[in-house]
Amino acid sequence: MIRNERKKLLMRFKSLKGIQDILPPETHIWQRIEHISRDIFKKYGYKEIRLPIIEATDVFIRSIGETTDIVEKEMYTFTDKGSRSVTLRPEGTAPFVRAFVEHHLYNEPSPQKYYYLGPMYRYERPQAGRQRQFHQIGVEALGVEDSKLDAEVISMLSTLLKTIGLKDVQLEITSIGCIKCRPDYRAALKEFLRDKLNNFCDDCKRRYDINPLRILDCKVPTCIENRKGAPSVINFLCDDCKKHFEGVQRYLNLLKVPHIINPNLVRGLDYYTRTTFEVKSSSLGAQNAVAAGGRYNKLVEEFDGPPTPGIGFAIGVERVISLVKETPHEHESPDLFLCTLGHEASEKSIVLAEQLRNRGLWVEMNYDESSLRSQMRKADRIHAKNVIVLGEDELKKGKVVMKDMQGKKETKVELDAEEILKVLQKKK
Ligand SMILES: [Zn+2]
Ligand SMILES: [Zn+2]
Repeated sequence: MIRNERKKLLMRFKSLKGIQDILPPETHIWQRIEHISRDIFKKYGYKEIRLPIIEATDVFIRSIGETTDIVEKEMYTFTDKGSRSVTLRPEGTAPFVRAFVEHHLYNEPSPQKYYYLGPMYRYERPQAGRQRQFHQIGVEALGVEDSKLDAEVISMLSTLLKTIGLKDVQLEITSIGCIKCRPDYRAALKEFLRDKLNNFCDDCKRRYDINPLRILDCKVPTCIENRKGAPSVINFLCDDCKKHFEGVQRYLNLLKVPHIINPNLVRGLDYYTRTTFEVKSSSLGAQNAVAAGGRYNKLVEEFDGPPTPGIGFAIGVERVISLVKETPHEHESPDLFLCTLGHEASEKSIVLAEQLRNRGLWVEMNYDESSLRSQMRKADRIHAKNVIVLGEDELKKGKVVMKDMQGKKETKVELDAEEILKVLQKKK
């Protein structure tokens, strides 16, 4: 009875739906991926920028687009105590560009290259590969319009995913044109959709007049079915866009980055121009994009900055991790466990542990009066590499025995941090 009530109490607090804790040992994989990312970004000249996770709602409406799924359905938007509408960031590019303009980062030598990592929020039905809080590692490079930069960014992404250990991923690229060529495409698309519009969902019907391109990324199955055979933007590119896209392909071939052209690649955000790309994995199911990005040549102006072209991508960390989960990682374990018997030994051990940690070792110790047997069991459970037993006798003689938990070899050592360190270093 009492037990049941306690159980009920213990279950009262749970994390929110679609918002998960990340626990060890999985955090090892996160650290490894973050470490690899920072390492590679550095070689390409990217610097870290840390952005707030909350912004004025307008930041997202302005950039991502009013008629997109993200803005219409998926944002965590609420009114704060000052009656301002604020939103938890659903992606990183909009907050980045807001900061880029706010701090005049366009005055830095171009290309200006930045990366960020952290949580993003979208209010969607949680499913495999889609959580309400998810994490992205993203980069943004601005100030250069040349297709060499597009190829460099895409090549860096490909190197990064390869270094993390992803196999069987496919890079798809396309160009979605610019404001010059888009009107023609928009007209052709509307022409194609006109007779079929009744078969589309209400959102699509509404979008037909405001922003028909958004119909191309509606997730409703009947809409997907009915838009089959729609004209593709790649056939409507203006000469400049065509030249730029050819450049991207030429440089990707020079860099030997495998890619395929997918003219139907649609990105659910309005700010993209020209190059867009996605990395997909066949082993992920419906939510198969591991990373995605594109060029945004007008976005800085949307935020009242000077005309500045840009390109970037973001990696979905959870999805990447689900693909590398099987990769074995090094089992980390303490260098030494200090068993103690009695009060005096306990006092000696807290000091000794600290001295050894200051010399670079990972040291664990006993904190209570438990029996030697149970202390040894604990040392074993946490995979301690070595154990020292500290009792009255050892204190008196000033000597201890260090036991190697694997080889079971025993070594006599002076009860002194420097001497213990010497013995442990010899073993390494
Ligand atoms: Zn164009
Ligand atoms: Zn639809």
